[in-house]
Amino acid sequence: MQVCDAHCHFFSSRFLEILAKDRRDIAPGDHAAVVSTLLGWDPPGPPDALADRWVVELDRHQVARAALIASIPGDEESVAAAIARHPSRLVGFFMLNPSASDAAERLLRALSDWKLRGVCLFPAMHHYRLDDERVTATFEVAASRGAAVFVHCGVLTVGVRKKLGLPSPFNLRLGDPLALATVAARFPKVPVIIPHFGAGFLRETLMAADQCPNIHLDTSSTNGWLKYHPGLTLEAVMRQALEVVGADRLLFGTDSSFFPRGWQRQIFDQQKATLDAIGVAPEAQEKIFSGNFQRLFA
Ligand SMILES: [Zn+2]
Repeated sequence: MQVCDAHCHFFSSRFLEILAKDRRDIAPGDHAAVVSTLLGWDPPGPPDALADRWVVELDRHQVARAALIASIPGDEESVAAAIARHPSRLVGFFMLNPSASDAAERLLRALSDWKLRGVCLFPAMHHYRLDDERVTATFEVAASRGAAVFVHCGVLTVGVRKKLGLPSPFNLRLGDPLALATVAARFPKVPVIIPHFGAGFLRETLMAADQCPNIHLDTSSTNGWLKYHPGLTLEAVMRQALEVVGADRLLFGTDSSFFPRGWQRQIFDQQKATLDAIGVAPEAQEKIFSGNFQRLFA
């Protein structure tokens, strides 16, 4: 069975530099090296080298293609370099803050010049509402360029920020799948992806997806949000998601990010075992593990 990963982070040198720029104890220009050491990561090196490492890793695990997210505004160019180097294997996503003054310019450049395919919104992190007109404007551009919009809803923790002692004043109320449903319904041709089954807003995510046939869910990460629901299991979540949205709108993902840890095979093993345990047919599994991704990012 072919596997595509719809959710990986491209933690480039530039990503680390932008992320840690407020750590004034680190000399400018040294952030990537110092931060990598602090975190126990391999220094990412230039984007081309990191892209090559990703492809070696995907080969090792027989993963056909992966979406790589530029995980901070301003790092689109790193992912652009990676996908230009391996266009058949890597799909470029990027984090955009639609409330920033340069958002419109960044969005157009990333989708047109750099051929990225997915815009990632983190409303809780950047403090804007999903019914804001700047979000609508983002959807308009995505629609005109055939791009997907990925929207992080629910609980949000950024492990790397925590480890570096960076503040994370997130407003979790802003990551509401029901607010997303309003704008998603206005752009039915734009594929919308809610990661981690809504990260704690499972019910709202299923309601939003039931109303909007363009909303897809990604299965990525350990789904640690299950702890907010007494007794809830990944099996029950998968079963319910399949019942409400069906196999055509679930996208397998791992949330892999840094090296040497690399691709998170145990997430695949766990999700495969879960789908087998609840008796999901091979054709449906094929859609979840690769078919849907290949259709959206052909
Ligand atoms: Zn992620």
